[in-house]
Amino acid sequence: MRILIVEDEKSLADILKKGLEEEGYAVDVACNGEDGQHLALNEPSDLMILDIMLPVIDGMTILKKIRGQGIKTPVLMLTAKDAITDKVSGLDSGADDYLTKPFSFEELLARMRVLLRRKTEVKTTLIAIKDLTLDTATHEVKRRGKAIVLSAKEYALLEYMAVNRNIVLSRTALTEHLYDQDFDLDSNVIDVFISRLRNKIDREFDDKLVITMRGAGYMLRG
Ligand code: CA
Repeated sequence: MRILIVEDEKSLADILKKGLEEEGYAVDVACNGEDGQHLALNEPSDLMILDIMLPVIDGMTILKKIRGQGIKTPVLMLTAKDAITDKVSGLDSGADDYLTKPFSFEELLARMRVLLRRKTEVKTTLIAIKDLTLDTATHEVKRRGKAIVLSAKEYALLEYMAVNRNIVLSRTALTEHLYDQDFDLDSNVIDVFISRLRNKIDREFDDKLVITMRGAGYMLRG
């Protein structure tokens, strides 16, 4: 999953980027509203963390702009303490949730998981694909009850494919949702990760979950 952070407090943005990358997310950071709006309009994100008070263009204006253009990316707003009017107008303008500064990183992660699983229609942290289960909170993966150890990036790939199960995902789409804008899109790194994932979740089983769609990409079937 790829996250866009729009936050002008550099120390906070740096901490969030580092923490989220450790959780396996790909993270883009914009330090002012103009860059944030540009990235929100032009780069695919699975979730946006948007500060309200920003230089150049404020967060509320960005929110209205992207919703006006039909971009449905979940938005988690960051508001100053007790700024009730910000929360109300933010939610009215298309934000999905908000956090009041200062907030705990654990709470941010939990709220992000809620927003990211909305399209799966799953109400808990557990996603099941046939006999494969993954827990989006603990990153525990099991097949037929047996634990499978994945690296952070392998897990991120599996989770993105699980959330988009039965949909063919091109290499470009997978790369765009697993890496930030600094990554070279021409790389065949996705093929390498797919191969590692297959070794871990499919090799011992007759019922293959990772499907190659020739010329189109990959799909998790279930
Ligand atoms: Ca700010």
